[in-house]
Amino acid sequence: MTNKDPIIVGAAEANQRFSRLLAESEAGREVVITRRGQPVARLSAMAEQASPAGADDREPGIGRAAGADLPDYAKRVQLIETCRRMNAIGLNQGTSGNASVRIAGGVLITPSGLDYDVTTPADIVRLNPEGKPQGGRRAPSSEWLFHVRILEAKPRAGAVLHTHSLNATTLACLGRGIPPFHYMIAVGGGRDIRCAPYATFGTEKLAQAAIEALDGRLACLLANHGMIVIGRDLKDAFNRAVEIETLAAQYLKALAVGTPNLLTVGEMDVVLEKFKNYSAWADPKR
Ligand SMILES: [Zn+2]
Repeated sequence: MTNKDPIIVGAAEANQRFSRLLAESEAGREVVITRRGQPVARLSAMAEQASPAGADDREPGIGRAAGADLPDYAKRVQLIETCRRMNAIGLNQGTSGNASVRIAGGVLITPSGLDYDVTTPADIVRLNPEGKPQGGRRAPSSEWLFHVRILEAKPRAGAVLHTHSLNATTLACLGRGIPPFHYMIAVGGGRDIRCAPYATFGTEKLAQAAIEALDGRLACLLANHGMIVIGRDLKDAFNRAVEIETLAAQYLKALAVGTPNLLTVGEMDVVLEKFKNYSAWADPKR
């Protein structure tokens, strides 16, 4: 087997080994994910696919014809690829998750209720900074309000991801955030990951609850709902979402056996200091 051979891996194993597979994909290796022996998804590096210059070389799927001349084409493609990746690794099911990315003079967001496998760049919805759709043929995700409000409240953030991922959502349904049971909690930007109180989806109340839970943080849970992460860009947000979901799974497993030992404030502060460069892009006050 040479390095050019694709890595073929089952969905459950892909979930476990995701960080490694992501690195292989970014290094140019094709990763094919299978379910019951049948290929169901493929990982390919976003950097390659997002480049309009390379668009002619892409395989059909996203399709250059479907809007290569649209403004912010590369970011539209990245949004779709990010959502497909969330589904491919089981971070998201169906169309429940959504993503947004900041552009000059507004926000691009995934459309409402459209399967990401058939979403094209022209289906991505452009909103002005107040959240008003700017043309286009689709309605924005029903969660558009918290995306817009969070990008407004976090001027240095470039992207917001939202999923109903299994483990984070399980904790959120118990109304529990994630305490510092593991030092990697620092990827959430602080000493813990909070769970915002429940509010109906799509409401201002939910947007404000999320902003409060994200104060000084880069991730939060939403009670009886799911998870939100922010990132410098889509890739940063995606990587953070994978980490948070992994932490949620580990915390649930630890809770099932006993009472996890928590790190102290002092220990977490040491880790946060070491993580400083990792989140240096974020507002120092956050
Ligand atoms: Zn949701």
